[in-house]
Amino acid sequence: MPTSLPNIITTIQKTINTNADEVAELDRAIGDGDHVVNLQRGLDALNNIESELAEMDWSAAFMKIGMTLMSTMGGASGSLFGTLFVSMGKAAKGQELDLTAFSEVFYQGVESVKQRGKADIGEKTMLDTLIPVANSLVSDAQNTIPLTVALNNAKAVAITGMESTKELIATKGRASFLGERAIGHIDAGARTSQLMICAVVDVLDKQ
Ligand code: ADP
Ligand code: MG
Repeated sequence: MPTSLPNIITTIQKTINTNADEVAELDRAIGDGDHVVNLQRGLDALNNIESELAEMDWSAAFMKIGMTLMSTMGGASGSLFGTLFVSMGKAAKGQELDLTAFSEVFYQGVESVKQRGKADIGEKTMLDTLIPVANSLVSDAQNTIPLTVALNNAKAVAITGMESTKELIATKGRASFLGERAIGHIDAGARTSQLMICAVVDVLDKQ
């Protein structure tokens, strides 16, 4: 039962709010500047339904999170983060979420984001954070790495993946119109994905 969800949502909101100016600046530099506001709107909507979410099983909660993000966020990121969670909800059906099951569920979610966005690693998007995290979790689960180590590995690859977007040219999303002028700027969605993943790990680490 996702009784930890309200705490996770609040912690994510705090991190995003703390870094809001920086993220807005990133999206202004190579996009249209609205990414953080879109995300804050989605997180507010999740905050409003947190007691409902805490009553659900993980599958239903992921599904509800995905639908809520899709209907409230807007922007490319709204449909992509929405897809991530709807797909995780489908994959989590009937599962106890230990590290192995969660890694598979997250991997499926990221696969759906790739399909939805017609994008892959190295295109200067949120996927440069999400794909390395999915791969790291799956590999650590297969190698029966202890949970806390796996979580901290996920955090480390999220940061490396986010930072990798700085030197990339974008081939998807608004930043793709800029060609080489996008070089030197971190992708906003890669940064918020990393911030959220690190926040989730910090909450789980304390439990
Ligand atoms: P919009 O680009 O519609 O203004 P946002 O600003 O909310 O939407 O989100 C932009 C972020 O969405 C980008 O920083 C990037 O990480 C992500 N993104 C955009 N297009 C794609 C895509 N095709 N695949 C994966 N991620 C994408
Ligand atoms: Mg934008």
